[in-house]
Amino acid sequence: MAPMLRKLQKQRSLTFLAANNTNNKVAVSDATSRVNLLDLDEAGLRAFFESIGEKPFRAQQILKWVYHHAQTDIQAMTDLGIALRQKLESIAEIRLPEIIQEQRSTDGTIKWLIGFRGGNAVETVYIPEPKRGTLCVSSQVGCALNCSFCSTGAQGFARNLTCGEIIGQVWLAAQALGHERNGERRITNIVMMGMGEPLLNIDAVVPAMSLMRSDLGFGFAAKRVTLSTAGLVPGIYRLRDSIDVALAVSLHAPVDDVRTELVPLNRKYPIAELMQACRDYVSEKHKRSVTFEYTMIDGVNDHPEHARKLVKLLRTVPSKLNLIPFNPFPGTKYRCSSQERITQFQQIIMKGGLIAMVRKTRGEDIDAACGQLVGKVQDRTKRSERIKLQMAETTP
Ligand code: SAH
Repeated sequence: MAPMLRKLQKQRSLTFLAANNTNNKVAVSDATSRVNLLDLDEAGLRAFFESIGEKPFRAQQILKWVYHHAQTDIQAMTDLGIALRQKLESIAEIRLPEIIQEQRSTDGTIKWLIGFRGGNAVETVYIPEPKRGTLCVSSQVGCALNCSFCSTGAQGFARNLTCGEIIGQVWLAAQALGHERNGERRITNIVMMGMGEPLLNIDAVVPAMSLMRSDLGFGFAAKRVTLSTAGLVPGIYRLRDSIDVALAVSLHAPVDDVRTELVPLNRKYPIAELMQACRDYVSEKHKRSVTFEYTMIDGVNDHPEHARKLVKLLRTVPSKLNLIPFNPFPGTKYRCSSQERITQFQQIIMKGGLIAMVRKTRGEDIDAACGQLVGKVQDRTKRSERIKLQMAETTP
């Protein structure tokens, strides 16, 4: 039996009574622990079908039904044959998350609260622009990293999302928007920039991105699927060796002491190591540039000297810089840099020969902007409680 299926079985305590048998009878001990086919990319589905004694090409049929025709009812997949459909229904299911709430901003941004079994929920955001539509997807319920300027971090951390829960966000948004794969492509870009640190959940994020990329899935080009990381260096190398997607790195400071204050992960993977990983990422097969994100925080990282140091640092990597005005949230000690400060910073970068864009803040009226996504996190770290207590003590 394929190791992949063994792993899935173990995870879900499935009991296949006759997984590799000749008459293809398969039974499962518990109907609620069926394999969710959304958890498998093409390679995973091929291995799954082989492990139950079926032809691997069945994977392609399933993928086309689910991602090209938005069909999630196994019984409606008529080219599978009645016997196979019945067998599949007894061991597998196509289980989507659920849209709990939809909010629309006056600027056209849409935010969905998407709920999962067990009560957790994340936020997924659609940002329409004249020539593109970007979907911002979450990878974890909450975040374990605790960056000091991000409200997702203050929610604490509940758990990783499964591949099905990640690709399910794209599936639901595509349906809600009337996205057509070969017609009106309402979604042109996907960014893993929602809640969570995607490289801390790489085992689920890579198959989900492979479904975003694959022609049998949503069919997005490599440069249109971006993973954003707070700088998990070993994860950047694993990503490079697993899949071809664009990389964004949340940098936020050109020097270690400031960066460590903002992104505590910097203590473990300081800037020099991070920049080397970025150079290695773009060096061979990924001949593109890295996007660096830099949140502009008043008096913390927005000094002209920071801009000059940033120029020196970024010259060593093919890169673009995105300046993000800091979005405040209740209880934060930070404020956004002034418009003049941001413009001055941008000019220093551009004079240094680099590309720097100021990201427009979108969906502010519905709290959909960068770092404002909160979802419903059953915090297991008790961080959210500690922060609430601190806030109560410090506010008069
Ligand atoms: N953990 C990943 C994915 C989250 S992306 C990462 O750190 O890259 C979310 C982006 O929004 C990151 O660049 C993050 O640094 C930025 N961000 C977080 N809080 C913010 C805030 N309050 N204002 C502006 N940008 C913020």
